[in-house]
Amino acid sequence: MPPAVEARPRDVRGYPVPAITPWEGGEPRFALTDHGRSADCARQRRCSVCDVPMPPGPVWRVVGATESAAIAAALASGEPYRNLAPTTEGPGHRACMLYASMVCPYLARPNARRGSSAERPDELTAHVVRGAVRGELGAVVGFGDFEYAVTETQVLFRFLDLVEYLPHDTADTHLAELRAELGRVR
Ligand SMILES: [Zn+2]
Repeated sequence: MPPAVEARPRDVRGYPVPAITPWEGGEPRFALTDHGRSADCARQRRCSVCDVPMPPGPVWRVVGATESAAIAAALASGEPYRNLAPTTEGPGHRACMLYASMVCPYLARPNARRGSSAERPDELTAHVVRGAVRGELGAVVGFGDFEYAVTETQVLFRFLDLVEYLPHDTADTHLAELRAELGRVR
């Protein structure tokens, strides 16, 4: 766990609560994004996971299966990747996004399906099924820059200049990368 994430408030089960998560009646609502907290993070260039300011330079986010596939297709064809559609998910540190990609149930949900397919006795079948869903989970992606807009109801982000693409097909794909990143930061 990144140190700044370790320092976050916890829910009753001990899970660290991201910076942009709203609290209702003393309970974090993990599936939601708090407008005020997200706006503060955007304006002060703070990480949406750990709430600590991000240094100048690239920022990271976790993308879902559809965007991951689009990035992979662009890289394969040698085209620059550009997605001008805004998202409500803000940026964060590399370590924080690697960590979030592994533990956040809202990002890691398809993993259960992948796990059950791998339990099939026929190894070849299992391999083919795994291959078919490879990358379905998403990716941790680095961008050179981002823009944001705070509207009355939403905080919208747009990410520019792809600098790193780390796709994952299981929740623990990035464990070694996260360990290495934490070693660099400490
Ligand atoms: Zn962070």
